[in-house]
Amino acid sequence: MNNLSDQIEAMHIAYVVVEESLEVCEISTQASELFRVSKGDYLFAGNVRVIDESFEGFDLQAKLRHSMATHQDAQWEIGLSYPDKNVEWAVLSLIQYKDYYILYLIEHSELIATRRLNRQLSTQDPHTGLFYREAFLSNLNAKDQCGTVCCVRICNYQRINEIWGTAVANLVFMEVLSRVMSDIPDAICSKHSTDSFNVFIPPEINFNVERFYALLNEPFHFNQRHFFSNVALGYYVEQPGDAHELSLNKAEMAILDVLSERVRLAEFQEELARQIEHQNNLETEFRAALSRDKLDQDFYVLFQPIHETESQSVAGAECLIRWTLNGEFVSPVEFIPIAERIGDIGLLTKFNIGQLANLVKKLEAQGIETQTLLFALNISVVEILDVDFIDKLMTSISNHQLSPMQIKLELTESALIDNFNYVNQTLERLQGYGFRISIDDFGTGFSSLSYLCRLSFDEIKIDRAFVTHVVEDAKLQTVFNSVASLAKNLNKPVVAEGVETVEQLIYAKAKMVEYIQGYYFSKPLTESDFIEYMLARR
Ligand code: C2E
Ligand code: CA
Ligand code: CA
Repeated sequence: MNNLSDQIEAMHIAYVVVEESLEVCEISTQASELFRVSKGDYLFAGNVRVIDESFEGFDLQAKLRHSMATHQDAQWEIGLSYPDKNVEWAVLSLIQYKDYYILYLIEHSELIATRRLNRQLSTQDPHTGLFYREAFLSNLNAKDQCGTVCCVRICNYQRINEIWGTAVANLVFMEVLSRVMSDIPDAICSKHSTDSFNVFIPPEINFNVERFYALLNEPFHFNQRHFFSNVALGYYVEQPGDAHELSLNKAEMAILDVLSERVRLAEFQEELARQIEHQNNLETEFRAALSRDKLDQDFYVLFQPIHETESQSVAGAECLIRWTLNGEFVSPVEFIPIAERIGDIGLLTKFNIGQLANLVKKLEAQGIETQTLLFALNISVVEILDVDFIDKLMTSISNHQLSPMQIKLELTESALIDNFNYVNQTLERLQGYGFRISIDDFGTGFSSLSYLCRLSFDEIKIDRAFVTHVVEDAKLQTVFNSVASLAKNLNKPVVAEGVETVEQLIYAKAKMVEYIQGYYFSKPLTESDFIEYMLARR
């Protein structure tokens, strides 16, 4: 016995020799300081708490007894926590020797501290102290309860960040988070993205979502400034058997819905999951259709005549793209945003140009004068912001022997407001080449007069939304009339879109609208129907 303890002592290792009862029969000076016990004491008699790496209590007694009973040597990483000084971290090994048990400790603070930090950084956001998704989920899974899962998003985070800087934006984030924590101390939170976090509310909490939402949206004061945090909340109330991960996805889907609908509080609905799935499928199919050699297998272009109001003659047509998926029609309202998002909208414009060129050739072959016609292409904001847009457009047009003089580019009003200077310069260059610029969906973007005066454009299209019910709705008349007189003052012609009835036509005529597009004259037509339409009116 003495022999061994002498050897260990010589290695300057902290050690304790205990009996099966855990009574100390031999102890080194270092070990005595660590456990705060002496020879003859019960090993756990000192006022020292044994903890694990996450500072949770570690039942060393039970572990020791188990190893002793099963005659197994063992090793644990432990912390010894004292009421009056810092934690000591150590690796503790148990070796059985005859009827005795030798415990020796190797000091391990640095290694454990580094490992703890690494683990913490991979599970917890260093700025907010919030768990990341995985740690959050394993936390919930360990609890095995059905609660309410929320996704909280600070909608104006980006704006606050731009105006007052990151520090203030983070302060707003922390403020919203602290409201959650102080309102529901038992809530478990996790980081979702820069401007959002998730919250799990345990079932025993009497949770009133409207009150909670109002609380998060109360303004707050900082440095004599008032902030509106503008918080959106999507949530899902878990049902027995739900997997937390799916619940979290559902809360996140609800917040997506919140953002698109401009309502700020939304509970997850199954319908939403179906919609998202539909969107995803559509996107997959759309990518597949675009990657085929020839786009005309899935896409085609229709041409909707635009008429001069006075003479009723055809002034041109708008090119409107169509997609058929498994024999079914998909509206451009659904797939254009996908094309914009995945960055392939330019392919559709190119396709439109090719199809338009075919039409023009065939019209000429029929002896129809096309130089006086103007063909409208819809151009999305994503395209106009592409620095190579003009080059691509010019290449495409000249490859097809078309001239810019035959083409009108329709841009939505909202697309023009952001990046005003850049967009306006691009419009001027396009006009320089001979293109005409038309402002589409006019009236829906609330643009200010001062900005309109500076914008380089040639024509205004009043949105269908103001035309369809203009005859019976006085408010729509007000909008319609003011758009028409605004255009008069700016000396620009107007196209009224969506004219379906003779009453609407008469109304538009009375307001001196120069051009008419709509079902009253014609729906969008296929190439051959358009040629026939033109032949019939010759
Ligand atoms: P938009 O540019 O406002 O096009 C007018 C829409 O109104 C077209 O719908 C047209 O079919 C419809 N319309 C025209 N007259 C009438 C009418 O009298 N009554 C009714 N109920 N509807 C009428 P469409 O073809 O479904 O296109 C929807 C939108 O999709 C277009 O709105 C445009 O923003 C976009 N779009 C269509 N084709 C293209 C394209 O090739 N490229 C891009 N970037 N966008 C396109
Ligand atoms: Ca249009
Ligand atoms: Ca429109």
